[in-house]
Amino acid sequence: LPVVAIIGRPNVGKSAIVNRLAKVQEAIVYDQPGVTRDRTYKPAFWSDRDFMIVDTGGLVFDDETEFLPLIREQAMMALSEACAAIFVVDGQEGLTEADRVLSDWLHRQHVPVVLAVNKCESLTQGYSQVSEFYELGWDTHAVSGIHGNGLAEALDDVLSHFPEKDEEVEEEEIRVAIIGRPNVGKSSLLNAIAGENRSIVSPISGTTRDAIDLKVERNGIKYRLVDTAGIRKKKYVQYGPEFFGINRAFKAIDRADVVLLVIDAVEGVTDQDQKLAGRILEEGRACIVVMNKWDAIEEKDTYTMLEHMKQVKARLHFTEWADVVFTSAVSGQRVEKIFDMIAPAAEQHRRRVSTSVINEILEDAVSWHTPPTMKGGKQGRIYYGTQVSSRPPSIALFVNSPDRFGDTYRRYIERKIRESLGFQGTPIRIFWRGKK
Ligand code: GDP
Repeated sequence: LPVVAIIGRPNVGKSAIVNRLAKVQEAIVYDQPGVTRDRTYKPAFWSDRDFMIVDTGGLVFDDETEFLPLIREQAMMALSEACAAIFVVDGQEGLTEADRVLSDWLHRQHVPVVLAVNKCESLTQGYSQVSEFYELGWDTHAVSGIHGNGLAEALDDVLSHFPEKDEEVEEEEIRVAIIGRPNVGKSSLLNAIAGENRSIVSPISGTTRDAIDLKVERNGIKYRLVDTAGIRKKKYVQYGPEFFGINRAFKAIDRADVVLLVIDAVEGVTDQDQKLAGRILEEGRACIVVMNKWDAIEEKDTYTMLEHMKQVKARLHFTEWADVVFTSAVSGQRVEKIFDMIAPAAEQHRRRVSTSVINEILEDAVSWHTPPTMKGGKQGRIYYGTQVSSRPPSIALFVNSPDRFGDTYRRYIERKIRESLGFQGTPIRIFWRGKK
């Protein structure tokens, strides 16, 4: 959903405005304990659009309270995910120096801003109160959070900055890339998926030249198989097996939400397969490992799949979160099962987790295993963490010394987060941030 940030000094009446827009009075996401003024999300709607309001708490730049840097950090994060901001000022108090400072800061944030001059209860009074704020250089509206005057116009203005609704609908389709070395069975797999007398398949041209995408549907979910032309083209034949259009594969990974990494089960995981998996991880795409040609493995018993699974997990340990499926593109065995894995992986890939949940996990993680000691014997400290983006889920951890936390502790935190939250099928990103 689109996010709208509410920004303003304390006591300008932000909460009165928020409460008018919100569907429910309780915030659905709380920030961590310890920070008194929180960033809270509330679902809201206006005309035909649903969105989230994020309230950043009172912003001031000219006092030296202990929490100030954190609040500013919170506001920055709120703005980074917002498609528009409502900047609230107090029309009865008039333009203050603190408003000017805040306004200058907002002008540097690259987010469309609508200025709401609050506490303008009467229209005539409103006009005289509003004019002095024009110098701040925003689209300006006289509003009353208490009575609701002027909010409609202000919101129409805010909505004009939302992404087109169609784009959101388009987002619902899951983009899938089929990737792998030559002859692992990509074309065969594609044919098995898109073959005749299957459900809806329609070719559409992709964004890159001569990339043909295929749309397929399973259980009411729409999938777009990207760059299927690249799969069918047997370009590498004339260059020998070393050349397999790796750039093309990389481009397809780039366009996908979920990548099917197809591997020849008879040959097992090769160096090149590892390289492709590495790229998928780097690009932060969800992934499913498809061990194809399973039918060609002879004399299977009950342990065969387990043995192969072990080898895959060992050779692809850096993408151990990826599901593995053993298929036969020629017989169709388990090909449809791939779709049962794609949809949840895509869901995990775009998942958002509340700050309170993340901080509960962090608290637990830290109590089992304290952060490394910093230079000079100072104890490493995690203040709090918050998810800053999705696709893939990315979590910033605010710490006292970001350079010194290192990879071992990062892996530990990732493990703890996965133990609680799963994130099966998708990479997650965790990075250290300074408190500033
Ligand atoms: P691509 O280069 O990855 O697109 O691979 P192809 O789909 O062209 O397949 C390469 C060869 O492997 C062909 O001879 C296929 O018939 C064969 N092949 C593909 N999938 C399977 C499978 O699941 N089992 C077996 N036994 N052979 C397969």
